[in-house]
Amino acid sequence: MITRACISINNRCNLNCTYCHFHAPEKAEYLSEAEMDIYTILNNIKRHIDKYDIQVFKLGFVGNGEPLLDYEALQSYIWYISDYLAEGRIAAYTITNGTLIDAEMLRFFKAHKVNVGFSIDGIPDIHNKLRCNTHADVMNAIKMYRSMNGSYPSMNCTVGRATLDRADDTIAFFRPFGSRITFSRMIGNGGITMNDFHAFLKQAMCKLNVRTGGYDCTMYGGMCGAGINNIFYANGKVYLCGNCIDLPAIADSDSPLDSIVPHISLFDRNDCYRETRKV
Ligand code: SF4
Ligand code: SF4
Repeated sequence: MITRACISINNRCNLNCTYCHFHAPEKAEYLSEAEMDIYTILNNIKRHIDKYDIQVFKLGFVGNGEPLLDYEALQSYIWYISDYLAEGRIAAYTITNGTLIDAEMLRFFKAHKVNVGFSIDGIPDIHNKLRCNTHADVMNAIKMYRSMNGSYPSMNCTVGRATLDRADDTIAFFRPFGSRITFSRMIGNGGITMNDFHAFLKQAMCKLNVRTGGYDCTMYGGMCGAGINNIFYANGKVYLCGNCIDLPAIADSDSPLDSIVPHISLFDRNDCYRETRKV
């Protein structure tokens, strides 16, 4: 049964990170600004929670772009589910590149119990090369988060060849924050093998609180969870995950959640389903 979803509320970003696979030519052609009624999606999620008495439905406002570019729309979606958020029946989160966030936004997310994660690729030398010289801006945003919330936020770091060359420095960078770090494997140009990624994770786990394991995503060090309990909304359609937008959609975005039953062939869940498919 579906108990997790991500909604891509937009397909645009104010950065142009070197490894961004959403905007790489092979994926970009699948992204469009197709109308998607997010209130209908949220209604369907609420009905699904009620019908199956789901204790906690995990909902990410994350996808193919920077969500805070459309902050007003995001705010209205959060208001729309605020009773479910207050009761803890929806655990919502968003992930930002940290360049647009301000104190008012942080206050709003805190008031509605929406977790905010920040993308930061470790030390400035690496981050600035990959993520458009934004390290100082992201760090300022992270410090503002800490001053308002009393602890540092969760952070997401993409691990490529440059990170492996500076593995100790990268791990040391994250250590003082004491928050949960999601490392993801870079693919494509500058990308690394699964074995190298797992070796890095093993090293990082000795010193950091690292997200990993379970049926989730091999990009984060777990097993592939495609088609189990998680779906991804974008372009008016539903996909297995954010990396599968160039595979056929599994439903239209206005479909009731219990009608969305992905039929995917058996595969080794230690591998990425998407990477084992031919488009
Ligand atoms: S901030 Fe995220 S969506 Fe924007 S270009 Fe960078 S990786 Fe892509
Ligand atoms: S198909 Fe690949 S990217 Fe998608 S959830 Fe599975 S491992 Fe992750």
